[in-house]
Amino acid sequence: MNAILQRAVHEAPSAFFVCDNTGRITYANQAFHHLLGYEPDEHVGKMLHDLALPGDESRAEPARRLRLHGHTDHWNRRRPLLCKDGSEITVDVSGHSIRDDEGQLIAAAGLLIDVTDAVAALADRQQLDEYLTAPLAAGLPLAQAVEGAPIGQFLLNTSGTILDANESACQLLGYQRLDLVGRTINDLQQDPTAELLGADLQLRHRAGQPLWVRTFAGEVTDDSGAARWTVLQMLDVTAEREARQRAEAAEADLQHRVRHDPLTGLLTRDALLDDLHRSLNQLPRTMRTAVVYADIDNFKEINDGLSHAAGDHVLATVAKRLRHALREDDLLARFGGDEFVYTIFGVQDPQAALVRVGRIAEAVAKAPITIGGQELHVRLSFGLSVSERDANAETLLREADTALRAAKRSGRNTWLLFDEEMRRSNDRDRQLAAQIQESLNCGEFLPWYQPLVDLSTGARVGYEALARWQRSATDVRPARDF
Ligand code: GH3
Ligand code: MG
Repeated sequence: MNAILQRAVHEAPSAFFVCDNTGRITYANQAFHHLLGYEPDEHVGKMLHDLALPGDESRAEPARRLRLHGHTDHWNRRRPLLCKDGSEITVDVSGHSIRDDEGQLIAAAGLLIDVTDAVAALADRQQLDEYLTAPLAAGLPLAQAVEGAPIGQFLLNTSGTILDANESACQLLGYQRLDLVGRTINDLQQDPTAELLGADLQLRHRAGQPLWVRTFAGEVTDDSGAARWTVLQMLDVTAEREARQRAEAAEADLQHRVRHDPLTGLLTRDALLDDLHRSLNQLPRTMRTAVVYADIDNFKEINDGLSHAAGDHVLATVAKRLRHALREDDLLARFGGDEFVYTIFGVQDPQAALVRVGRIAEAVAKAPITIGGQELHVRLSFGLSVSERDANAETLLREADTALRAAKRSGRNTWLLFDEEMRRSNDRDRQLAAQIQESLNCGEFLPWYQPLVDLSTGARVGYEALARWQRSATDVRPARDF
C-alpha cells in the first residue's frame, strides 16, 4: 500500500479493521481504537469476538460465524460491542471477505458506524409513540392542545435528543418537524459551546438569525413513575431581550459619559476621586501611592495665538501621551482646562516617584505637536505628593496642587515633590484663612482713610479708603499681609 493510502486508511474518521480467517485482528485504524476506548494498536492480535458482549452468540462460536459470513462476500450487521471501560455501544458493521486466487477465505475487513444514540432515540421514540398516539387516536383535547399550542414545545429524551416538536416549535425555528427530530438542543444553539444555564437560551433560526427563548421544562414519567422524557416549552423573548440589551448598552454608555471627559476620553475629576478613594482603602498600607498634578505651560498662548480648536488638539494629544506613558492600572483624569491628574500606584519612595514623573514629563514633551504644518513644543509642569500611612485622596490632591503651583512659580517645565516647606506654607495659609474668617465675623477689618492732597495748593481734595486688619490696639496689618 503506498504511504498516502496507508495514512488515509489509518487516519480516516470511520472505524476500520482487518482480521485473518480465524477472526484475529491484524489491523485496526485510529478511529477503531478511539470508538472502543482503547489505546492505538491495543487491538492488534486480539480476537474479534472478544469485543462481543458476554452472552452474545458470536462469543461462543466466532470462527463458525466468520466462516458463515465467508460464504457471502459482503454483509451488514447491527451489533452491540463492549468498550474497554465496560460500557456498551451499538454499531452497524459493514464487512467483506478477502479471498486468495483459489477462492479460499484468507481475511475479512469491516467498517464500523456508531449508531448508539440513534438506536436509543428510536427506542424512546417507539415507546413515546404509544403514549402519544393513544390519546390522539381517542381525540383527547389535551394532546391536540399541545400540538396546536401557540408556545413552542419539544419532547426530549434524557440525553437531550428531540423526539418530537409541535407546530409552534417548528415555526419558531423555521424547521420541518422531521428535521428537528433527532437533533439536540445544543445543535440548535447560536453558540453550541454555550452552557445551558438559566432559563433563557439563544437559539439559531434555520435561516441563520439568532433568537432568544425562555424555557420551561417539565418531566414526563412512564407507567412505573420513572422520569423518561422532558417537555420543554419555549417562549420567544427575542424582542424583550433585544430591548433589554439596548437599555443596558444605553446605561453603560451613559455611565461612560458621566465618568469620562468628552474631549480626551479621560476620567472626570469625580470619577478619579471615587476610584482613588477605593484604591487607597483596598491597597495594603505598605504600598505607597503618588498623586500627580500636571498643567500645560502657557496653554492660553496656543488658544489665543492659534485657535481654540488647536488648543483642543493639544489637550487630546497630551492626554494620549500621558495615558501611553502610564501603566494600565494607574488612574488618569482631566480635571478641567489644561489640568491633568494621575496616580502612580506602588511607588517605592518619594524620590523614586519623582524620577518616574520626570520620565513621564520627558516622554510627553519629547515630540512636537504638529498643527496646520506648525510644530508646537508643548511643556508641562508637575507637582506630586506621595501617600503616608494615613493618606486620603483629598489631602494628596491638595498637596500635589501646592507642589504644582510651586513648580509654576519656579519657572515652569519642571516637576516638584510636595515638601516640608510647602507643608508649613500651606499650614500658614490655612491658619490665615481661618483667622480672616473669624476676624470678618468680629468686624476686625476696618477702612483707614488717607487724605489726598493737591501738592500745588496743599488743599485736601479727597480721601482714599485702605483696608486694614486690626487684630489688637497695637497689631494693625496692611493689606499685603492678608
Ligand atoms: P500656566 O503656565 O500658568 O498654566 O499658564 P496657562 O496659559 O496654561 O494658564 P492656565 O493653565 O490657567 O490656562 C488654562 C486655559 O485653558 C484657560 C482656558 O481658556 C483654557 N481652556 C479651558 N478649557 C478648555 C478647552 O476645553 N479647550 C481649550 N482649547 N481651552 C480650554
Ligand atoms: Mg496651564
